[in-house]
Amino acid sequence: MDLILAMQSAMQDRMKCLIATRNPHKLEEIQQIFDLPGLTLLSTEDFDDLPEVIEDGATLEANAIKKAVTLALASGCIALGDDTGLEVTALKGAPGVYSARYAGEDCDYAANNAKLLRELDGAEDRSAQFRCVIALAYPSGRAQYVEGICRGRIAEAPRGENGFGYDPLFVPEGYEQTFAELSAAEKNTISHRGRALELAATRWRAEFSE
Ligand code: IMP
Repeated sequence: MDLILAMQSAMQDRMKCLIATRNPHKLEEIQQIFDLPGLTLLSTEDFDDLPEVIEDGATLEANAIKKAVTLALASGCIALGDDTGLEVTALKGAPGVYSARYAGEDCDYAANNAKLLRELDGAEDRSAQFRCVIALAYPSGRAQYVEGICRGRIAEAPRGENGFGYDPLFVPEGYEQTFAELSAAEKNTISHRGRALELAATRWRAEFSE
């Protein structure tokens, strides 16, 4: 009996996945999409004293892996980290990996959006894409990643109240509304993060049910 309980507990431990983000909007989106049977999603709030991860990588891949590996090692659980960048064609891929601090350290979403509009003032080409890298790390430190892309364009002015970040300025391909004018469910179906998570779920489903 003890053996069965021990095996059940070991299996439950292996099925816990810590979402390595402190952004409540992202956490909610990831929880909505990455809902796999038998997998318990945990947030950083479920642990005391997890280390802060400084996002100082030169690429989205490096930051996503750093977040996932740091928190997998610290928590002893599988950890899922993501890093997203808005890549604007006319700005040669900027703000990219610097999307969070485009308008300076500790800036807010409104300041980033205002800077983006200034930089694109008069630009003919307003095409852009969101690119999301999702990394999965094991307590051993092993990690792997997938990527999701959503193409679109930057609107002339912010529109909509939903979502976060650059959502009021991003019009996904095939739509007239910005991400911030779509419902969460509509955004998740077509978004960079939604696509990356779907791919991650497909690719890693077998690992979670091992
Ligand atoms: P992070 O480093 O992955 O947290 O994302 C960098 C920045 O990109 C965030 O601070 C947001 O401004 C922006 N961002 C990330 N994901 C999204 C999204 O789904 N919609 C709009 N902006 C986003």
